Amino acid sequence: MSIFGNQCQSCGMPLSKDPQGGGSEANGTKSTKYCSHCYLNGKFSEPDIKVHEMVTKVQNIMCDMKFPKFMAKFFTRKIPKLDRWKAN
Ligand SMILES: [Zn+2]
Repeated sequence: MSIFGNQCQSCGMPLSKDPQGGGSEANGTKSTKYCSHCYLNGKFSEPDIKVHEMVTKVQNIMCDMKFPKFMAKFFTRKIPKLDRWKAN
């Protein structure tokens, strides 16, 4: 159980922090697994992104949001364990 509650299983962002409240499935229902940045209308916005690219991307986003580097590193360390990447 994560301290963040439901988090995106692609980028690790807490879904409660998603302005859209989550991504969407092809039929328009809300996704409870992925955020709106990663997943819209039943598709990943970046289907070919690799896990290390996602880690870098989220670290950059967090640095832009003025999170300290160690926080960004700590937060993104668990990305490879999320559902989207586990299979690889
Ligand atoms: Zn996401």
